[in-house]
Amino acid sequence: MKEATYLPIAMRLDDARTLVIGGGQVAANKLRLLLGRCPDIAVLGQIDDHEIAQEVASGRVTHLGDEIAPDTLAGLMPGMRLVFAATGDFALNRTIAAMAQSLRVAICVVDDPEPSSFITPAIIDRTPVQIAISTNGAAPVLARRLRTQIEALLPDGLSRLARFMQAQRAWIKQAQPDTQIRRRAWENFVDGRGAEQALQGDDMAARQSLEDALTGAPMQGEVWLVGAGPGDPDLLTLAALRLMSNADSVLYDQLIPPAIMDRVRRDAERVFVGKKRSKHTLPQDGINEELIRRAKAGERVLRLKGGDPFIFGRGGEEMEALVDAGVTVRVIPGITAASGCGAAAGIPLTHRDCAQSCIFVTGHARADGTLNLDWTSLAKKGQTLAIYMGLAPMADLCAQLMAHGLPPEWPAAVIEQGTRHDQRVHVATLATLPTLVIERGIVSPALTLVGEVINHRRLIHHQEA
Ligand code: SAH
Repeated sequence: MKEATYLPIAMRLDDARTLVIGGGQVAANKLRLLLGRCPDIAVLGQIDDHEIAQEVASGRVTHLGDEIAPDTLAGLMPGMRLVFAATGDFALNRTIAAMAQSLRVAICVVDDPEPSSFITPAIIDRTPVQIAISTNGAAPVLARRLRTQIEALLPDGLSRLARFMQAQRAWIKQAQPDTQIRRRAWENFVDGRGAEQALQGDDMAARQSLEDALTGAPMQGEVWLVGAGPGDPDLLTLAALRLMSNADSVLYDQLIPPAIMDRVRRDAERVFVGKKRSKHTLPQDGINEELIRRAKAGERVLRLKGGDPFIFGRGGEEMEALVDAGVTVRVIPGITAASGCGAAAGIPLTHRDCAQSCIFVTGHARADGTLNLDWTSLAKKGQTLAIYMGLAPMADLCAQLMAHGLPPEWPAAVIEQGTRHDQRVHVATLATLPTLVIERGIVSPALTLVGEVINHRRLIHHQEA
């Protein structure tokens, strides 16, 4: 048979009758497509499916009888806009299809495209937005997989945004008769903060943004403080991905790997703000000023941070500076290094047997190279320490923990490049870890875990020991 090609269209059914033949689960799947889209749905065949029975009982669907007889069908079909053959009986479905084809009634045979005059796509329904994915019937499983992938990219408030835009059409058409100016205003609205406001359900603010777009008022910038997670792009949140693809510019540092930068909008301006522990770092004040300057110039600035922006990322300071300067800020959390490294190394952060708490602590040394930490509370059993930035002062760190009461054989581990493809996990004790760091040439970023949870480590994925 010659391969069929299809035209995807969106069909109105609000004045139509439709017929589903069959009463099992396959028929129920098709019925679900029609419910809410077609007011007059009939079912023919013995009803075995609970959902269909419920719809019939509620009066939303008409049951035309148990028997699927040719005479009945011949009488029914001409009045139907669409017919679904969903009996689960291949031969019977084909007979139904032949009859429909001869009567020139649109017919879809479930899982059998050949005798069908139409097929149903995989649908993403965010009414009024609908996305249909069709493979011409070639690979329905692929269509469903694509649906999942596309669905992940769509913002949660998409329906709200589309309805908002629909509701504004009338006045905006009156206010601005020129189609081209109107279209540009809509484009600026969709690209700007207005769309985000409508997605969040803030219709008042969205309306103001739309009016600004229409009058050509300069676009208001803002800053998005976004956590990019520990490095594996699969650990980005949906919100992070969406903002990454909308930003005008991005400020990032060495914690953000290329695999994540690849997902930032291609024509966003990239500004590298530095390498820690080096002279080429843009100081924090400089970063704050840059963020403020760009936002005030109307840019939507993405401040992309490793892990979570509010955990040892100075995100708090940036937020304060921005808000004090009158800049709108949004904060998107990310998976912090401790969570990411624990999961990727197979080490739980708490455990009923041995760790009732987990302390996130920074090993960032003071200018004179010493650590200023509350050693008495850190050197305790029954808890896990997750030490960020603890690589350089490792010797001091382990010595202090032992001096304050933890035994030399107390478990300690370093997770290097956690969650990334070159991750290495080094398991040791407080006594042996400092030497190990040097011997194995462990480099940043690396997270240190201390505590008996390390004894509960299990090898997962394909990690090396
Ligand atoms: N805001 C970040 C932490 C920034 S401080 C977060 O929430 O994760 C930087 C320190 O985080 C590094 O020195 C290292 O200790 C840790 N870190 C960040 N990413 C890491 C990774 N992929 N693997 C191991 N440690 C990581």
